[in-house]
Amino acid sequence: MINRRHDENAHRPTTIRAVPHPDELDARGIPISCPHCRARRDWLLLNVREHVFIRCRCAYEWHEPDLTRAFFEQHFTAPEEEWGDFDTAMRALAFDGLLAGTTWD
Ligand SMILES: [Zn+2]
Repeated sequence: MINRRHDENAHRPTTIRAVPHPDELDARGIPISCPHCRARRDWLLLNVREHVFIRCRCAYEWHEPDLTRAFFEQHFTAPEEEWGDFDTAMRALAFDGLLAGTTWD
């Protein structure tokens, strides 16, 4: 679980839940690929309120309307961890762009 503060005066932080998804995603029957680096798997799914975002190893992140919160709940099985801020969480999960282009075999 990640708490992301938009600004110092925010009344309460936005809770972001993150779950790694090492395989391909094909919500539309077509494997989703990263618009930035063309990767086709090894995602981090982010749930913010009712929205699901996909983050790539290259640190590119986008809102994916085809992925619903229900889909996220189905895949959210990772043990819950908590980070103070989003950037720390992305570094801890190795989704800060450092491993861009890396493939795991
Ligand atoms: Zn990418």
